[in-house]
Amino acid sequence: MKKLKIASIPGDGIGKEVVPAAIDVLHTVAELHGGLTFEFTDFPYSCEYYLEHGVMMPEDGMKRLSDFDSIFLGAVGDANLVPDHISLWGLLIKIRREFEQTINVRPAKQLPGIQSPLVNPNDFDIMVVRENSEGEYSSVGGRIYRGEDEIAIQNNVFSRKATERAMRFAFDLASKRKGRVTSATKSNGIVYSMPFWDEVFKDVAESYPNVKTDQQHIDALAAFFVTNPSRFDVVVASNLFGDILSDIGAGIMGSIGVAPAGNINVNGKYPSMFEPVHGSAPDIIGKGIANPVGQIWTAKMLLDHHGEEEMGQVLLDVIEETTKNRIITSDLGGSHSTQDVTNEIINRLKAKA
Ligand code: ATP
Ligand code: MG
Repeated sequence: MKKLKIASIPGDGIGKEVVPAAIDVLHTVAELHGGLTFEFTDFPYSCEYYLEHGVMMPEDGMKRLSDFDSIFLGAVGDANLVPDHISLWGLLIKIRREFEQTINVRPAKQLPGIQSPLVNPNDFDIMVVRENSEGEYSSVGGRIYRGEDEIAIQNNVFSRKATERAMRFAFDLASKRKGRVTSATKSNGIVYSMPFWDEVFKDVAESYPNVKTDQQHIDALAAFFVTNPSRFDVVVASNLFGDILSDIGAGIMGSIGVAPAGNINVNGKYPSMFEPVHGSAPDIIGKGIANPVGQIWTAKMLLDHHGEEEMGQVLLDVIEETTKNRIITSDLGGSHSTQDVTNEIINRLKAKA
């Protein structure tokens, strides 16, 4: 029997509503699997925890989390309770940094029965792989002079190690999918870092002869996400470009409530962390209407990460059957509750046994 030890951090707001729902779903997946069990340990780290203890997590928090196979997180931050810079840096960003989760993966896929804002959505199924540790979001730079002579300088940092790591991850992922990687570049305008990015892309591509490649400038690529998203499989991008592309990806899916994400520690030295794209949604707390699909799809990414791709596919199929039958929450134009959607997914999984 394979046992996965998962640290669950429901966090704030609707995180406390959708994480238990997704955990119920994962237990059902384990039953269906037969040879897999989950052991969840709940951690109360959140804004409420901060109000009580003055910190987002205790001193030994990171050490305790490091014992787990993965972290399953809901949402962190509720600006009505604690300023965002405290809650994010004290928990979310702290985990991402200290556990070297240098890659962020975000699927963008059209779910049946859901209205995409695109005029012609076709059938898109994209994975955006974002380098998440350096690039344009470095803290190298400064400001000089004052007044009308003032100059701000922000340096991009691209190391061969981190760039190669993101690209290898993208190629490995594409090998299990449709076998295509598109690189987001801008080497016609950014003349040092982006030609370097292109070079590393070419080098890495050589060791994956079965994966087709292409490169697009980020401006054209962003437009294609809107006009023809079905042409993409895996898209690999720098920190800034990946940030923008993955938000376009969530946008064309129809609601932020369905978008999943993974923060990956590639070397397996520390746990990876899976969390939906949406936040704590303070405006709908306690109403029972939070869309659980983002968190449940995030659970599918956790399954994939631990080599349970077959079960991951079963879970995604069931999510799609559920949206197709319009068992959906109000953010998608439906009238079902969090519990209705969760029950539907669980019942459909049980029916596959
Ligand atoms: P953060 O800064 O943590 O990302 P935010 O306020 O910017 O928080 P969200 O918390 O994601 O962003 O909320 C944005 C809007 O989307 C809100 O109106 C919220 O109610 C809605 N929303 C977010 N997640 C869901 C969900 N799972 N189901 C339904 N509505 C959601
Ligand atoms: Mg936000």
